[in-house]
Amino acid sequence: MKITRRSFLSVSGSIGSGVALTALGIDLSALKAHAAGLSKTDRIRRAKQSTTICCYCSVGCGLICSTDMTGKIFNIEGDPDHPINEGSLCAKGAGIFGLTEVNQHRLRKVLYRAPKSDKWEEKDWEWSLNRIARLVKDTRDQDFITHNEKGELVNRVETIGHYGTSNISNEECWTLSIACRAMGLVNIDHQARV
Ligand code: SF4
Repeated sequence: MKITRRSFLSVSGSIGSGVALTALGIDLSALKAHAAGLSKTDRIRRAKQSTTICCYCSVGCGLICSTDMTGKIFNIEGDPDHPINEGSLCAKGAGIFGLTEVNQHRLRKVLYRAPKSDKWEEKDWEWSLNRIARLVKDTRDQDFITHNEKGELVNRVETIGHYGTSNISNEECWTLSIACRAMGLVNIDHQARV
């Protein structure tokens, strides 16, 4: 019998029940005895694996998410059975697990540094969004260009730029680019292009 990595992982998830192991012709009794003494393996034994697609770009690489009995993701890796990526991931996709709650370094609050200040201040979202909206409005009112030097209608603003982070999905990128263009921005870029 051919054992794919997926079937091995699936069967490994059933070590506790003993289901299907014999179907693969593998004697895991020694491993089971060893695993029984390790509390950490409980989580792995009962893990549920779900396949999904990386949200970051149109390549559409396949992923396997492992969740424990509480539904918490504890591992994400490339799906070796997926026809597009065959288990491999680019650096962005390989780091996707770091976006889950396990990453204690995720940005959770807004930090603001006033002009000419060397100190960061913590601000709430309402203050921050109002501040951004005010600056965008003032800049557009001041710098909006309706016609270029040839007299052609351009309706653009060149003094605001938008740079997309690596942590936004295709859909978020699309929405943001439409919103930026609606405001007349022409300086729009994204981490993936760089
Ligand atoms: S961002 Fe990387 S891992 Fe994700 S779909 Fe694109 S190429 Fe694949």
